[in-house]
Amino acid sequence: MAASLAGNGWIDNLVDTWPLVSHVFAMRIVTSVTAMQRLAGRWQSRKRRVGFVPTLGFLHEGHLSLVRRAREIVGPRGCVVVSIYVNPTQFGPKEDLSRYPRDFARDKKLCRGAGVDVIFAPDDKDIYPQNGAGAYSTYVVEEALSRGMEGASRPTHFRGVTTIVAKLFNIVRPEVAVFGAKDFQQAAVVRRMTRDLNYPLKIVVAPIHREPDGLAMSSRNKYLLGNMREQAIVLWRSIQKARTTVRKSTKPIPAGELKADLKKMIGSEPAARLDYVEFFEPDTLAPVSKVTRGTQMALAVFIGKTRLIDNARL
Ligand code: AMP
Repeated sequence: MAASLAGNGWIDNLVDTWPLVSHVFAMRIVTSVTAMQRLAGRWQSRKRRVGFVPTLGFLHEGHLSLVRRAREIVGPRGCVVVSIYVNPTQFGPKEDLSRYPRDFARDKKLCRGAGVDVIFAPDDKDIYPQNGAGAYSTYVVEEALSRGMEGASRPTHFRGVTTIVAKLFNIVRPEVAVFGAKDFQQAAVVRRMTRDLNYPLKIVVAPIHREPDGLAMSSRNKYLLGNMREQAIVLWRSIQKARTTVRKSTKPIPAGELKADLKKMIGSEPAARLDYVEFFEPDTLAPVSKVTRGTQMALAVFIGKTRLIDNARL
């Protein structure tokens, strides 16, 4: 992978004393945890504002909208860090870890174009050491918001997410971290973890970026070949159907009834299989039995072997 430029004295000095130049001049790629921590420490002592966008890479416009949000918050003199790391601990044993799409050269170009200051792209050995004094053995677990929906379908997923996000926060030490509403439950879990573990930073959640036909942008959309791409719009159609039903009705709709209708609609696409659809309070994620305007909806649907998620406020 790309060499680290962190710790390269003259570049660091130039970038620190003339921050605006960094956007056109040098986007740094840091691959070592120690180098990233050193850089973050320097930023802290120089009171530079740091905005952070954690990703799995294979970037798209959705990710870049988070980068732009981070830049708006920290300003032109602040530092925007994007981490690109396919975190193995958030993938289940039967999930797509080994074939998760990767294209670091393309990600670099997109980040440079979006004015990112630093890509932090560590490797597994540095994040989860297996040698030395012993194998990696510390995990962060959120025990309430992570139970349902994604947590029920992917039992070890949020443990992996909270662990890597906690580690990344310790390494990058941002004042603000931007997450996407695309992963609604993830954002809620991370926000709770941040509060519970007293991380001195703000979590900002940016809106879902969609394709013109409504499909939420996702790195996994790359898997949708042939007519799968068209069938994938069924997630957006489900949201619209639920929204229309709720808005047309003068009284709350029983959640079970709406779920059954949506299951039927999703089942009419030959390659689609509903994993779950849930209606819940947006703040507590508590499921509701009656759906009204303002209820949050989330769903996960397999299109062939590709599992897609989406959500919206009704
Ligand atoms: P990922 O690389 O899929 O783990 O996503 C990294 C971050 O980008 C997460 O906070 C996601 O919620 C966010 N994200 C992914 N897709 C979108 C999208 N279509 N719109 C907005 N944010 C997104």
